[in-house]
Amino acid sequence: MTDTVADNTVASVHYTGTLPASGEVFDTSEGRDPLTFLVGHKQMIPGFEEEMMGAKVGERRTFTLEPERAYGQRMEDAVQKIEREQFGDITPEVGMMLMSDIGPFTVTAVDDQLVEVDFNHKLAGETLEFSVEVVEVRAASEEEIAHGHAHGPGGHHH
Ligand code: ZN
Repeated sequence: MTDTVADNTVASVHYTGTLPASGEVFDTSEGRDPLTFLVGHKQMIPGFEEEMMGAKVGERRTFTLEPERAYGQRMEDAVQKIEREQFGDITPEVGMMLMSDIGPFTVTAVDDQLVEVDFNHKLAGETLEFSVEVVEVRAASEEEIAHGHAHGPGGHHH
């Protein structure tokens, strides 16, 4: 029986992510279904899986991830200026999060002609603290391993 987080298991966890500098909770599964993921297939940020390897059902782990093991460092060339007219019907406003062909971005500044946008992940450059409790672990099916993601509750449905 599988009860330990390892490559090619499907783990369900409850987690809370905090920014240690401010204490702000940036994401949590509390009050929701647990997060379910296929372990060892880059579904999660790298440090999250590294820290949870070998954890057993019922075990809680708390760890801190530097940006290198979380969402990476901020990249200055991911901040770009775009002609306002390219937004078409959308009126860009600071703080707006939008989707483009090359991924999501945040509007960081607006003037009459140009809109400054930031393609960095909002947690890039941040040190993150996680508290994670393992709720369930099971062996992944061959199909899940071939697809690279978990199926069933909390996973992909297709
Ligand atoms: Zn699939």
